[in-house]
Amino acid sequence: MVCIATRSRPLVLRGTLTTFRRRCGKAACRCATGERHESPALTFTEDGRTKTITLSAAEVRQVEAALARYEAARAELEAQAEAGLARLRSQRRDGADTTGRRR
Ligand SMILES: [Zn+2]
Repeated sequence: MVCIATRSRPLVLRGTLTTFRRRCGKAACRCATGERHESPALTFTEDGRTKTITLSAAEVRQVEAALARYEAARAELEAQAEAGLARLRSQRRDGADTTGRRR
């Protein structure tokens, strides 16, 4: 199996880790009447549609780590944007006549 985390850049993924339940289609299989096959899956939106990629057991931890990387990067970016707003506001307060009034 190809390890998806061995590329030069760490894997980053956006989405949610879920359990995908499906029927395999074989009439004699237990899934036809009862318990469906379960596999871990990543769901995400792409082009406005929800998509699913089923994962092997080995991929689950990699995907978890990749989702955490995305969340951490997003939180960092959000924090920077908040700081940016605060800075812009303080600049305007320090300035001459820019307290929100129109000229
Ligand atoms: Zn089945």
